[in-house]
Amino acid sequence: MTSADLVRDFFLGFIRVHVLHHAAEEAVYGIALLAELRRHGYSVSPGTLYPLLHQLAEAGYLRQTDRTVNGKVRKYYVATPSGIAALAAAGQSRTWAISVTSTFSVASGLMRRRMRTSSRSASFFPVPQAAR
Ligand SMILES: [Zn+2]
Repeated sequence: MTSADLVRDFFLGFIRVHVLHHAAEEAVYGIALLAELRRHGYSVSPGTLYPLLHQLAEAGYLRQTDRTVNGKVRKYYVATPSGIAALAAAGQSRTWAISVTSTFSVASGLMRRRMRTSSRSASFFPVPQAAR
């Protein structure tokens, strides 16, 4: 594994945590998540996000439901109890969060900017509201 692969792996880990965070709050779908991640400064392609959503669903962290919106079937994802538990564990794992934060800080200016924001708002490794 090259260092670029490793950084990508960390990045994907962040994306997973962030997707779980939103899916724990409400049902989410691919395009909206892409826009949300972009809003945070992450450009993620559908080719990266969709397999990731599928993996999280396969692993039991997300539950997929199909809804018809304007005549088109859209796949929505909500966090399962396992997903919420994993998210809470990630939020509580401060050592892990800090090491990921500093890795990203070194890796890119964009990440550095985001991390500064996150250390203020703690939105990077959010602990979900208790399951509703
Ligand atoms: Zn977000």
